[in-house]
Amino acid sequence: MTKDRSPALAGIYLLRAAQLRCPACGTKPMFIPWHKVRSLHDWFTPLDGCPRCGYAYEREAGYFLISIWAINYGFASILGLILYGLLEGFFELPVWTLMACVLLPVLLFSLFFARHSKSLFLACDLFFDPHDKEGGEDGGNKPPANPPVGGSPAGHQPVKPCEPAGTLR
Ligand SMILES: [Zn+2]
Repeated sequence: MTKDRSPALAGIYLLRAAQLRCPACGTKPMFIPWHKVRSLHDWFTPLDGCPRCGYAYEREAGYFLISIWAINYGFASILGLILYGLLEGFFELPVWTLMACVLLPVLLFSLFFARHSKSLFLACDLFFDPHDKEGGEDGGNKPPANPPVGGSPAGHQPVKPCEPAGTLR
């Protein structure tokens, strides 16, 4: 199976990430809207998956650690270095004022950029490692052509209800 890794597709994924939308279909949001956020958990945690296409946002536990450690902290560090360089180069500030002028914007940036760092990571992951089903004897995990009668999986018998107490012989 050939995977499309064209720059145009990368641009589409990055645009969807910038809009905090599902990277696969681009129509549904990754997070609950900001005006419905009631806690930090609401702010940081993406939805389970896309309500439209079913794309799972978090593949496994700890999936977004790299997005925080690499993307979020990386961009925040670059911002901090630029701010420090500008303030140190053009102003003579006391050290505590300098620290406050650098750390406060960096912390705020990190907080507000957390969602985008996760969406950027998800878009990159979809681009380089899409969720394609593997081919194989079962046709890539396709549902069976002839589902068993009653909806139970093949080889499984329907469970009979228990007899009420007092009917034992
Ligand atoms: Zn989707």
